[in-house]
Amino acid sequence: MRLSKMLFVTLREDPAEAEIPSHKLMLRAGYIRRISSGVFAYLPLMLRVLNKVSNIVREEMNATGAQECLLPQLQPADLWQQSGRWDTYTKAEGIMFALTDRRQQEVALGPTHEEVITAVARDMVRSYRQLPTHLYQIQTKFRDEIRPRFGLMRGREFIMKDGYSFHGDMDSLRATYDDMYTAYSNVLSRCGLKFRAVEADSGAIGGSGSHEFMVLAEAGEDEVLYTEDGQYAANVEKAVSLPVDAVPSEFSECKKLETPNTSTIETMAKFLDCSPTQIVKNVLYQAVYDNGKTVLVLINIRGDQDVNDTKLQNTLTNLAANYDASTLLSLEVPAPEAQSKWAAKPLPLGYIAPDIADDYIQKQKNVASKFLRLVDNTAVDLKNFATGANEKGYHVVGANWGQEFELPELVVDVRNATAGDRAVHDPSQQIQTARGIEIGHIFQLGTKYSQAMGATYTDENGKSQPLVMGCYGIGVSRLAQAAVEQSYDKNGIIWPVAIAPYHAVVVVPNINDEAQMAAAEQLYTELNAAGVETLLDDRKERAGVKFKDSELIGIPFRVVTGRSLKEGKVEAVKRANGESVDLALDQVVSTVKQWVDEAVKSE
Ligand code: ATP
Ligand code: MG
Repeated sequence: MRLSKMLFVTLREDPAEAEIPSHKLMLRAGYIRRISSGVFAYLPLMLRVLNKVSNIVREEMNATGAQECLLPQLQPADLWQQSGRWDTYTKAEGIMFALTDRRQQEVALGPTHEEVITAVARDMVRSYRQLPTHLYQIQTKFRDEIRPRFGLMRGREFIMKDGYSFHGDMDSLRATYDDMYTAYSNVLSRCGLKFRAVEADSGAIGGSGSHEFMVLAEAGEDEVLYTEDGQYAANVEKAVSLPVDAVPSEFSECKKLETPNTSTIETMAKFLDCSPTQIVKNVLYQAVYDNGKTVLVLINIRGDQDVNDTKLQNTLTNLAANYDASTLLSLEVPAPEAQSKWAAKPLPLGYIAPDIADDYIQKQKNVASKFLRLVDNTAVDLKNFATGANEKGYHVVGANWGQEFELPELVVDVRNATAGDRAVHDPSQQIQTARGIEIGHIFQLGTKYSQAMGATYTDENGKSQPLVMGCYGIGVSRLAQAAVEQSYDKNGIIWPVAIAPYHAVVVVPNINDEAQMAAAEQLYTELNAAGVETLLDDRKERAGVKFKDSELIGIPFRVVTGRSLKEGKVEAVKRANGESVDLALDQVVSTVKQWVDEAVKSE
């Protein structure tokens, strides 16, 4: 491609709309243009990168025996009603774009494809002889993200590869899952990314059947906890660890103390001159289930610990049946206005005790009349602890479970693991933290969708069984930008060679110099013919501008038909380290080709 013929616009200044380096660079280098919130035009250079990533994904997927297909983006509501996800996706989370068509049918733009693929399997899979089978696709997904940001990292329209496998039993699912773990690791390595596979939250079902592939970068929205020995890595949403030991309490007798202005753990510990580990903190949440029922949840947790929202959500989802509901719609710490909807009298916020009376809750049809009381593991063994007194400005010290307070029946793990904790597998290992960008997610679904939607097969004994499913996703457009987030310098992008839009650019410093142009044209033709994807910068621009642009757009190798041409040589520069060599004209193609091949092999 000749740059003189390309719609090629670079910006000198950082665009105000971009916050993180990769987003700024993709805009400045002309890879993307924002059309509206979370919606981007992928320009020709970008499309080449996306196609390269897609092809690597394709090769690795095909190598496992999975087959590519293409499913509809317009999805009928009834499939989502069958799986039970229509309300959660359109109302609760509201992440799905839904509309009513002119026949008054409800349809949605696909954020993911479990429902569609399960409907296909329900129709087509009859017998165990057809199993296992695995279909994948690469296409645009739509999600009405509440906070689209960071360019392609979190868009409302983005490219994903999603795959779904069907099995007769869990063993078969696990075998495919392991293949996917390897395939995803291969994809990320081949794309030149530094990453870590981590245990991921698998929702209310729990279990260990889910991993996320995290590209390590400061701008990552996820927190990854890991140990140096490489034995443990998990998303903080799911991570477990051993909290630091509690300091033994010095409160020997139980009494109520006046403790003015101590509504936080910090002020309370300071006032009482005790460790936060001697405090039982009582955290109030408001949960709303899919049948409209509001449940007030009171969690007792050790004062130095925090509640992990994902773990709590999973716990509450598992308790849905107790409230005649099937799933949780929302969970939040109730704001003062929200409390006025259900509180019978003002709550002693900041001073709540584990035994706060249920009559703080108004009698209402859609509100559970009693608090759902949960105690986190960290609070169970505390002795002589300090806690609220259900009265503003007062706390109780020296309290004990089974004496002043009844220990809730439901003991749960809802604590947030944090850096500095000890590891469960080896307490001598300390938990470390890192930021990660979630690029891929593999998931053992089991029979959740097949049961809900009636997708069954006949086993060897002629018995009807629900299909066992797995699903596997990679964010293709997110991956492309994550590569930039991991690889750039002050001058611009440094693409990993395997996914660079072009391998090389031939720069002609002066297009009016016939010898320069002739040499450049020849190199451009020969490089392309040899399989080195090459751009020709034949624009009517100053040499300095061309050099700057080639660095900004991050082409791995630059060949310059400049001064040394008189000696039959050209300058060849490596973008990654700035190394430059003079090459004889007849060496250029073989040398650059070798650089490309070596780089692609080692990434
Ligand atoms: P996140 O936690 O980042 O919202 P997710 O858990 O919703 O992601 P999945 O449903 O597992 O994501 O989708 C598979 C992959 O698609 C993700 O690993 C990610 O790489 C990509 N992806 C998800 N949402 C977006 C988005 N809004 N923009 C770009 N890529 C996305
Ligand atoms: Mg995910």
